[in-house]
Amino acid sequence: MRIILYGPPGSGKGTQGDLIEKKYGFPKVSTGDLLRRAVRERTLLGLKADGAMRQGLLVSDDIVLELLKERISQPDCRLAYVLDGYPRNIGQALSLELLETNRPETFIEIQVDEETLVARLSARRICSRCGAIYSLALRALKKDGECDLCSSDTYQRPDDRPEVIRERFRVYEQETEKIREYYRARNVYHAVDGSAPEAGVFVAVSALIDSGISRRGEARVVR
Ligand code: AMP
Repeated sequence: MRIILYGPPGSGKGTQGDLIEKKYGFPKVSTGDLLRRAVRERTLLGLKADGAMRQGLLVSDDIVLELLKERISQPDCRLAYVLDGYPRNIGQALSLELLETNRPETFIEIQVDEETLVARLSARRICSRCGAIYSLALRALKKDGECDLCSSDTYQRPDDRPEVIRERFRVYEQETEKIREYYRARNVYHAVDGSAPEAGVFVAVSALIDSGISRRGEARVVR
């Protein structure tokens, strides 16, 4: 099985993916994380991807596909996995299908409006050492600019600045209707309201996974 979490940047796909991984044991496969690691490690693919990522643009399909292919061929993905951040366009949806035809899938769109996203993402800070993620919108750090857990410096992702967030949202909107149509036609499309607190969103997401709706095939919105 594969569960596809789809939604704009900041919709909470990553968080929901982590929660699914914890509850069901399906590994979360985030193409954003795979790309950031490649950039950090300065691999050839990472060097090619870096410029587009900084501007909030999509990295070319073949770079992302290569990283994805390598990741989902690992043994822990054999039974099931959760995709976070892939596919981002129809070409990627088709490549995924070619890569693994016949794997049952459930597609879940997490819906959140643009202003909520800008507020959420521009307040996000990440620890440069332990990777802890903070939202200044929810609460301030104990000491400004320092991780509460390990006291290392926190930073803002270069693509979490408001102007880049808006560009990422625009890129997202461009492809969304086509992606929805594609998965609706396959009878695996579902949507949840992502503006609720994350625990509430997870109740809706788990209900979709539990009820095995991908097999029954009717699309619905759980709120
Ligand atoms: P994310 O962490 O999912 O918000 O992704 C961060 C950035 O990585 C995006 O703004 C893109 O530049 C790049 N990226 C992640 N996933 C993809 C993908 N499936 N296709 C193209 N670019 C991607």
